[in-house]
Amino acid sequence: MKILVINCGSSSLKYQLIDMNDESVVAKGLCERIGIEGSKLTHQPTGKDKYIVEQPMPDHKVAIGLVLEALQDAEHGVVKSTDEIAAVGHRVLHAGTTYCESIVVNEDVKRVIRECFDLGPLHNPANLMGIEACEAVMPGKANVAVWDTAFGMSMPEKAYLYAIPHEYYEKYSIRRYGFHGTSHMFVSGEAIKFGKLDPENAKVIVCHLGNGASISASIGGKCVDTSMGLTPLEGLIMGTRSGDIDPAVCQFICNKEGIDINEMLNILNKKSGVLGMSGGVSSDFRDIESARAEGNHLADVALQAFIYRVAKYIGAYTAAMNGVDAIAFTAGVGENDIKSRKAICEYLGYLGVKIDDDANNIRGERRVISAADSKVKVMLIPTNEELAIARETLRLTK
Ligand code: AMP
Repeated sequence: MKILVINCGSSSLKYQLIDMNDESVVAKGLCERIGIEGSKLTHQPTGKDKYIVEQPMPDHKVAIGLVLEALQDAEHGVVKSTDEIAAVGHRVLHAGTTYCESIVVNEDVKRVIRECFDLGPLHNPANLMGIEACEAVMPGKANVAVWDTAFGMSMPEKAYLYAIPHEYYEKYSIRRYGFHGTSHMFVSGEAIKFGKLDPENAKVIVCHLGNGASISASIGGKCVDTSMGLTPLEGLIMGTRSGDIDPAVCQFICNKEGIDINEMLNILNKKSGVLGMSGGVSSDFRDIESARAEGNHLADVALQAFIYRVAKYIGAYTAAMNGVDAIAFTAGVGENDIKSRKAICEYLGYLGVKIDDDANNIRGERRVISAADSKVKVMLIPTNEELAIARETLRLTK
């Protein structure tokens, strides 16, 4: 049984076709520049050559049509007909407070996605376009929405409510939602299985450290706190996002620079993080590390601050759960940056965390990286959001 996983952006569409018998990727690809001149589909069937289609894609419906053609192509295809695709799983950013779990798409679900356009203005409209395109091109095929916000919905009120007048929660649903939810759900679940932890009670902290970075605390796979908030801006220091900051900084800079709050938010989202702190070196952690190695002081401080913030959150979440059984690292930096993982864990000696340097000398592979006598299991668990979406889709449609 094969599941098609779709992740739509406003001008892009990523896909993977996954064979659920062995959870292998049969083909994957990307449509770029949808609705813009120069549209391009790059289709990669596993074990075969890449296939590139350069054809106008005025909208997502045309893009999905081309993806299905590529999947069925005599030479580059991997299925004979769309009958082989059991269902389609969609990454959808925001369900507001309505859905706590993945769900088979119907008219109500589409209404909720639409109602949450203002909570996810960049993603929800594109996600809906992807769903409607699949409905148009494959009528009758089940579509499943897998929400990025679902994981955070199990947080208690003390974790998700902001200390602002309650009327803003009631009127506008202003609260902590958390993002990267599919990744946190997948990695915390896999950490429990891989680490042979108690599935009901294991206290797990997942550090999703990539260009966007977030951290979650969960007990028995249920989220109790997470660092991103109403938007992905809150929490850790990221590639270009500031993470936590005194809100009064915004007013101060707006007044001094004569800019408005929209411009300020753009600075906090796109020009801050390690990019901003390093004086503009780069948002890419590899570039920051190279600059540090060449003696760039600000790059060094940016990396130190990034590591320090992660360590502080791990301490806070350990307190929130009254303990921690496992810490799992994932995403680009978490899976590949050996030095940062070690530096973060060096802050955690008081918890009895001990890293095994040989075990930690690894990239992108599932492994326990703590020493045998470490009081907390530290693991590297590569994230796989597509597989998580495919599993949810299978669960709801089989
Ligand atoms: P992601 O957003 O999960 O794709 O992660 C992207 C980030 O991972 C980029 O900032 C990369 O620089 C970083 N990254 C990838 N490989 C390494 C590495 N070997 N060392 C440090 N950072 C890395």
